[in-house]
Amino acid sequence: MTVVLACPSWCDVHVNPDPTEPEHGGSHYGVAQRVPLSREVTRRPPEPVMFVQLFGYDHAGSRDSMIDLVLPTKLHVELTAAQARAVAEAVIAAADVCGAAPGAVSEKFGVDIHDPFDFPVQVQPVGPAGADDIAYVELLLRHRYSAELTEAEARICAANLLNSAELLDAVE
Ligand SMILES: [Zn+2]
Repeated sequence: MTVVLACPSWCDVHVNPDPTEPEHGGSHYGVAQRVPLSREVTRRPPEPVMFVQLFGYDHAGSRDSMIDLVLPTKLHVELTAAQARAVAEAVIAAADVCGAAPGAVSEKFGVDIHDPFDFPVQVQPVGPAGADDIAYVELLLRHRYSAELTEAEARICAANLLNSAELLDAVE
C-alpha cells in the first residue's frame, strides 16, 4: 500500500502518486521564485529568467526535499538548505564587490560548492570587459552553464535562496 504523507506547507503544485510506481507517494513543488535577468549582462539567453524552487519527492513513506536552482537554460542543481545558504552568501559577497567597484572589479575570488550529486556551483564577480560594460556576478553550474547577474539581480537571487532554506528547515 502506498503511504501518502501530508503536503509540506510550501506545496503550491501537487503531483499525485504515480500508480505505475508502487512506492511513489507524490511530489510537491513550491512557488518558483523568479529573477528576470536584464539584457545588460546576459549574453546567452534562451529565456532571460532564472528561478529557485522547493521540490519534495515522497517515496516509501519518507520525503526528500531540495532547493532547485534553475538557470535560463533550464539546467539546474539541487541544493540542501545549508548549501543554498552557502551559495547565497557567496552571491552576496560577489554582489558587494560589483557594487563597490562597478567599473573596475579587480578582486577575483570564487567559491566552489558541490551539490549532493557532486555537481559544482561556482560564484565569482567579473569585471567589465570595456568602457560600456558593467561588472556582474557569474553563477556557473556544472562547469558549463552560467548566468550573469547584475548586482541587484544577484541580491534578489540570494534572498530567494535564503527564503527557500528557511522554508525547508521549518518543516524538517
Ligand atoms: Zn503537495
